[in-house]
Amino acid sequence: MRLRNIPCADEAIRNSAFCIGEPQEHQGHWQDLFPASQPLHIEIGMGKGRFLMDSAVLNPGISYIGIERYSSVLYRAIQKMEQLSVPNLRFLCMDASDIDSVFATGEVERIYLNFSDPWPKDRHAGRRLTSRQFLARYDRILAGNGCIEFKTDNQNLFMFSMEELNECGWKIRAFTRDLHHDPAMNEGNIMTEYEEKFSSMGNPICKLIAER
Ligand code: SAM
Repeated sequence: MRLRNIPCADEAIRNSAFCIGEPQEHQGHWQDLFPASQPLHIEIGMGKGRFLMDSAVLNPGISYIGIERYSSVLYRAIQKMEQLSVPNLRFLCMDASDIDSVFATGEVERIYLNFSDPWPKDRHAGRRLTSRQFLARYDRILAGNGCIEFKTDNQNLFMFSMEELNECGWKIRAFTRDLHHDPAMNEGNIMTEYEEKFSSMGNPICKLIAER
């Protein structure tokens, strides 16, 4: 997702109470930023943040951090947050390739990857958020019982992700190629912006849950 450049976005992010600047300084201490010490879930590539805002309101016993690299996209999430009171959600404006300098070993209990950019060219495979390069980073920051939840409507990216997870020794705990018609996996599903858009076009939604 890329929005046209919004000139005030960088400044709004710097001044927002919901966005954490200098995230490396919080490595190993993310709990201190939240009202309670509780499990930490992150979404990488959160876009405008609908999934996280709905999740945080529904689950006050979980702390959430959303990561988005484009300030013009994150700016939209900040604007929405100003109308909500969600103490258990914060944002980081950064590229997730640095994620293991931001979270300590085992600090994160769950990673959500929702409708990640597909990067269809082979030479860009390492940029996919389910590539082995990213899986190695997730392996470092996830707790022992932690997991990845990945949703996409892109069949090629889903296949690639299953293969990468298998190659890297992860276990696929559950998967479906049609989430919205799979009652067990769809139970409690929280829709993302892209999920709504693609499912309304008739695209089946794939989901997997992976652990080590
Ligand atoms: N998760 C949202 C949803 O499902 O509606 C947004 C999906 S959008 C297709 C993917 C988002 O991931 C974009 O906003 C993009 O900027 C962000 N993104 C992609 N690669 C990223 C990276 N390496 N680090 C941080 N954000 C990234």
